[in-house]
Amino acid sequence: MFKALVVEKTEAGETSASVQEMSEDRLPEGDVTVAVEYSTVNYKDGLCLGSGGGLVRSWPHVPGIDFAGRVEASEDPRYAVGDEVILTGWRVGEARWGGYAEKARVKADWLVPLPEGLSTRTAMAVGTAGFTAMLAVMALEDHGLSPEKGEVLVTGAAGGVGSVATAILSNLGYEVAAVTGRPETEEYLKSLGASRIVARGDLAETVKRPLETETWAGCVDAVGGAMLARVLGQMKYGASVAAVGLAGGASLPATVVPFLLRGVNLLGIDSVMRPYEDRVRAWGRIARDLPMDKLDGMIVPATLEDLPRLGAEILNGQVRGRVVVEVR
Ligand code: NDP
Repeated sequence: MFKALVVEKTEAGETSASVQEMSEDRLPEGDVTVAVEYSTVNYKDGLCLGSGGGLVRSWPHVPGIDFAGRVEASEDPRYAVGDEVILTGWRVGEARWGGYAEKARVKADWLVPLPEGLSTRTAMAVGTAGFTAMLAVMALEDHGLSPEKGEVLVTGAAGGVGSVATAILSNLGYEVAAVTGRPETEEYLKSLGASRIVARGDLAETVKRPLETETWAGCVDAVGGAMLARVLGQMKYGASVAAVGLAGGASLPATVVPFLLRGVNLLGIDSVMRPYEDRVRAWGRIARDLPMDKLDGMIVPATLEDLPRLGAEILNGQVRGRVVVEVR
């Protein structure tokens, strides 16, 4: 038997989440069984801990889109018992059972070996949010961003993606302007390396002029919506925005003018279906470019029992930094 956070749905369509004992024969099919040590809470986990947000297909469901732990059984030659592994993405924790349990069973193809320099705990402090922040920074670099080009904007900065993006960019020598709707996080964001705080309200209004003063050399955007539209008009000539999230909305009430007159690029970032080689490269960069003392400062420790509350909090934009759930 092992412990799992299970979400159940009533006939009336209401969901409830509780920690339950479960037998191993209920685990889904897969070629590697992992003893999960840590998981985390991302925005998607907030959805899957509640109504499912259209991501969950069947109940009872075990959410948790990320986990890290040790291989307990393996039918795949790439993984041996005792190996430390990370899982993010592949719709685990959404369409399939995920990491909010002491055991998880998945396809070997979805796993990544824990890179040197990270523990299973620090890997989950990074999680999908931090992994995606790294992918966004790599995409901006691939499109010509370098520190001497100027200030880089990070939106949703006190959230998971934003916190890790801020710390990585600052460590790489970039000047980071951090957008937040929570003025009380200013000190925290500065401790991660932000050199300037931009109030959310300054970028909240819809586009009035398609082009504003050229301000940002790059942007990691976790917010989308009206804020992304506004930011596009403030990018420097030829600069790129990595579109990561939709915390502020899925619409894009923009004009094409920044693309046509300033050669601005809008780069889409997906972490879920990323090929294995990209994943290994990004995790290697995280181990190298994300300072562990800054990562420590982002961690909010939690247990499986805390998850229903944390799920609601992340959907309300109330979680700061990265939650690390001790599962074992
Ligand atoms: P968090 O909730 O931790 O962070 C989101 C942050 O956005 C909040 O902390 C808040 O920052 C800001 N925010 C929230 N609501 C609004 C609003 N209405 N208007 C403006 N800003 C707002 O979530 P994550 O960092 O885990 O994820 C961020 C986004 O990225 C989500 O939409 C998520 O689904 C997406 N995502 C996408 C991935 C991909 O593969 N493309 C992978 C991972 C995440 P502050 O308080 O500082 O203003």
